[in-house]
Amino acid sequence: MHGRNHTAQVLRFGQEFFLLDCGEGTQHQLQRFKIKSSKISAIFISHLHGDHYLGLLGLLSSFHLSKRTQPLSLFGPKGLDEILTTHFRWSHTQLCYPLTFVPTQDQEKQVLLDQPRYSLSSFPLSHRIPTTGFLFQEKAGPRALIKEKVLENKLPVAAIQRLRSGEDYLDASGERFRSEDLTYPLPKLRSYAFCSDTAFDERLVPYLQGVDLLYHEATFMEAEAKRAADTYHSTAKQAATLALLCGASTLLLGHFSSRYVDLSNLLSEAQSVFSNSLLSEEGKTYALPLHHE
Ligand SMILES: [Zn+2]
Ligand SMILES: [Zn+2]
Repeated sequence: MHGRNHTAQVLRFGQEFFLLDCGEGTQHQLQRFKIKSSKISAIFISHLHGDHYLGLLGLLSSFHLSKRTQPLSLFGPKGLDEILTTHFRWSHTQLCYPLTFVPTQDQEKQVLLDQPRYSLSSFPLSHRIPTTGFLFQEKAGPRALIKEKVLENKLPVAAIQRLRSGEDYLDASGERFRSEDLTYPLPKLRSYAFCSDTAFDERLVPYLQGVDLLYHEATFMEAEAKRAADTYHSTAKQAATLALLCGASTLLLGHFSSRYVDLSNLLSEAQSVFSNSLLSEEGKTYALPLHHE
C-alpha cells in the first residue's frame, strides 16, 4: 500500500479556516497536524464520491461532541444534505451548533462566499457525477499610506480615507492629491484553485486564468491516458497542460492512484510540460506569499 489518505485540504486566509473536501480520516489528520478543527467556519465538498466526503459525518459529529457553538456553513452537491439528515435523524442527534447547507450546482461559476477581502466560488468540473472545483480569490484591502508624504502635505482625515481606498483627493483650493503618489502599491492579489476529480477539460481554463496556485488531480500517468479518460480522471501531463493553458504560477498535483508507490516519474512527467509542478504531500503547507509589484 502507498499509505496515502483521501482528499482533504485546509485553506487558511488570515484567521479564516476553510476545509476543502473531507475524505475518510480527515478528523484524525487534522489532529495529527495540530489544526484546530473548531476554527473551521465553512466546509466545501466537491462531489459525492466516498474518497471526498466520507470523513464528514465523523467531523460534524465530533464538533457536536465537543460542544461547538460557532455556526458552520457547508457547501456541496444536492443530496449531501439528505445523507447527513438521514444519519442524524436515525442517530437521534440534534446538533448543538447551527449548520447551514448551501447546495452547489455544476452548470456555471457560482459565488459561494463574498467578503470584503476575498470571494470563494465553485465552478463545474468534468467527472462522472456532478462535481465542482473551488476558487479562492483575494480582494484588494485598503492601501497603506506613505506616512511622511501624508504628514508633509498636512492632509485631513477625510483625505486619508479616500487615498486609502484608491481615490484621489481634491482640497478646497482644487489641488489634487493622487492616491498612487501617497500610498504604497497594492500587493498582487492571490488566488487558489482546487480541482478535485476531473477529466482533462479545456473548458476549465476561463475559470482559472492566471491563478497563483492550481491544485489539479493527476490520478494517472500518460501511459494510462485511456483509463484516465474512461474514469473521468486526468494524467500528470494533462494536469500540467491545463496549468500551462491557464497561466498558473504553480501546479500542485494530487489524488494519485495507489498503483504509483514512488511518485517521482509522475512528477517528472508533469514537469516536462510545466516546470513549476509540485507533488502534494500530506501535512505540508503551501504558502502564497504577498508580492508587491
Ligand atoms: Zn470522484
Ligand atoms: Zn476521488
